[in-house]
Amino acid sequence: MGPTITAIVAMGALGLGLSVVLGVAAKVFYIYVDPRIGAVTDVLPGANCGGCGYAGCSDCAAAIVEGKAPVNACKAGGAGTAAAVAQVLGVSAAVGEREVARIFCKGDSAKAERKFKYMGINDCRAAMLVSSGDKSCSYGCLGLGTCVANCPFGALSMGEDGLPKVDDEKCTACGTCVKVCPRHIPKVVPVSQKAASLCSSHDVGKLVKEICDAGCLGCGLCKKACPEKAIEIVKFLSVVDAKKCTGCGACFEKCPTGIIQSLVFTVV
Ligand code: SF4
Ligand code: SF4
Repeated sequence: MGPTITAIVAMGALGLGLSVVLGVAAKVFYIYVDPRIGAVTDVLPGANCGGCGYAGCSDCAAAIVEGKAPVNACKAGGAGTAAAVAQVLGVSAAVGEREVARIFCKGDSAKAERKFKYMGINDCRAAMLVSSGDKSCSYGCLGLGTCVANCPFGALSMGEDGLPKVDDEKCTACGTCVKVCPRHIPKVVPVSQKAASLCSSHDVGKLVKEICDAGCLGCGLCKKACPEKAIEIVKFLSVVDAKKCTGCGACFEKCPTGIIQSLVFTVV
């Protein structure tokens, strides 16, 4: 056998040996991936916003397929996505109520005092590292727009008054703004909620009066006025129970700082 023939035979034997090894390895290390995970991932929005509580859309899809998350786990996708997921899985979609984000602070640049002029990085989380933020109210919106910058759906903008504004049509209730805000000012609420105290301060009324013209004083006038007993004062902050509130407006007139407001949404 000449050297050329020997080399061809050796290469052939090597190739055969390697293909056998690869074939065995494929069998031994095979991990089954449910094809429905890919199919569900395909019908999710692909925004990887994390609003579902998972690292991204494919993780959410895996959780749905494995029964660890409901078919409507993707808040960003809403009812349409839930229906599409349900169709892939051959189940019925239990679609929850539409939700939207609301900004629970009315202490804009004209109404809320500042302790000092912050000149650092334009990020609310960075601002918190400097004496816990420049706002006198330790609960109030810092106004640097970290929520605006991080909203994956462009549903937030910074108003001229220094407070974020929500575009109801664009908001998917993904909750990203809630997570990134160091003061927990945005909250996702059910679309049926008719009224809320748009303040987050738990300071006593005397202090609130000194530092903000739009803060909850915890005075309880709203609570007394509410015929449905839908309002409680929790650590000097008025909290409306959405299930009991009928939106009658009795509290709106009584609130001395006007922070209890009607929440009549335009979204459907
Ligand atoms: S809501 Fe939160 S993240 Fe947004 S501007 Fe205010 S403090 Fe910053
Ligand atoms: S406003 Fe908040 S909840 Fe709404 S889409 Fe933007 S980040 Fe998500």
